[in-house]
Amino acid sequence: MKCLVSGFENATKLCGKQRTKQGGPLRFSQFCMRIPCEEGTLLYNTLTGKLLLLDPAESMDGCTTELAEDWFLVPEQYDETGRLMQLRSLLAMLNQRKHITNYTILTTTDCNARCFYCYQLGVKRFPMTESAAHEIADYIARSCGGEKVSICWFGGEPLYNPRAIEIISADLKNSGLSFQSRMVSNGFLLDEETAQKAVRDWNLRTVQITLDGTQEIYNRTKAYIDHPENAYARVLSNIEGALKAGINVSIRLNVDRNNAADILCLVDELAERFGGNAKIQVYAALLKDYHTPIHDFATQEEEKAIVVALLDKLSAAGLCRPGKLAERLPFNACMADDDGSVVILPDGQIAKCEHIDTAGTVGSIRGGQLDDNSVKDWKRTVMLPECRTCPLLPQCINLARCPSVREHCSEAERALKTRQLEAKIMSAYRNREKETNG
Ligand code: SF4
Ligand code: SF4
Repeated sequence: MKCLVSGFENATKLCGKQRTKQGGPLRFSQFCMRIPCEEGTLLYNTLTGKLLLLDPAESMDGCTTELAEDWFLVPEQYDETGRLMQLRSLLAMLNQRKHITNYTILTTTDCNARCFYCYQLGVKRFPMTESAAHEIADYIARSCGGEKVSICWFGGEPLYNPRAIEIISADLKNSGLSFQSRMVSNGFLLDEETAQKAVRDWNLRTVQITLDGTQEIYNRTKAYIDHPENAYARVLSNIEGALKAGINVSIRLNVDRNNAADILCLVDELAERFGGNAKIQVYAALLKDYHTPIHDFATQEEEKAIVVALLDKLSAAGLCRPGKLAERLPFNACMADDDGSVVILPDGQIAKCEHIDTAGTVGSIRGGQLDDNSVKDWKRTVMLPECRTCPLLPQCINLARCPSVREHCSEAERALKTRQLEAKIMSAYRNREKETNG
């Protein structure tokens, strides 16, 4: 048995080695994933982060003591979920954040596109004023405690109000703060000149751009309001410009039943144009209905089959790299339950979640403390029926107030997350193999 990854320092410090009663019945941990590989079987524990390789000559029975010590085997009646919840609370207590270092800033709630599925449909459209932008830069300088800051430019469409980005970035530079930024944009206004300015003046490292299909479907879905030209062609050329300027581009493919077949064709087009470019990453996301009904798949099997086909195609095209395994056991889900993160609205109100239509606010950049009760309320978690037996649970946290969380986790969602984690495990195994073979 070979140890390929020693696991999460934060979890192993608290868990230590397991001591089981001699001869008591043991079972495989719910959090143990078993994946066949060229040299045998990989065992990955999602709670401890440990990755082992068992060669075919080794029987599980011969390794019982080691597997039990490392929590791959647990006593028959052991309450693993209960232990996980205890660990999470403990880790959250031990890692309390003193300063805010992650800021999601809505430069405007307005947008030049009209996607039918947008969760902000119905939100009042208004831009950030120049004076609010200066106040926000002041607030960042006051609240970050001198630490390095990460900014996400968000909207609406953040590039619909580039002046706000310019002011905040210039003020932060003038105050000597170290920061870097990323952006969630439809990409339409990210022309070559803007991309170069974004790298130089806004410290932009990554942009996330959503594509909904090939030309006809994309143009129909985005329905840009004041641009009659071929938006699809323009956005693809902007992606090229962004890559040339040195920006990492993460393309999100929004999928529902209506565009599923076309998205597979889009992957071919993206592969031809961008395949092999290390700065591009493409991932799939299942559309969710917020205000407008989306086109649901007829059955869970159909949805899962599309997700699997899409992931296979992306990976064969070299458009999705698996990324690294987590380095610590997570104890928060996202910015909403992280004391180090806030969402700033164009008027300086502060929220915890980017879904400003339903999330409500928790304070203002002009007030003192954030509202403690609202902040705490965002930390409530929820366990879906499928989570109770899911091996991914230690690395998957659902917040009770998250607008994206549904009553059930569909087979397709589980398949999507499982495949992503399996790809990371295989990549860790292959990297280790390369290191060993020189
Ligand atoms: S939400 Fe889905 S993937 Fe996450 S732990 Fe629950 S069942 Fe598993
Ligand atoms: S939508 Fe859910 S995951 Fe996203 S920020 Fe809000 S609470 Fe977090």
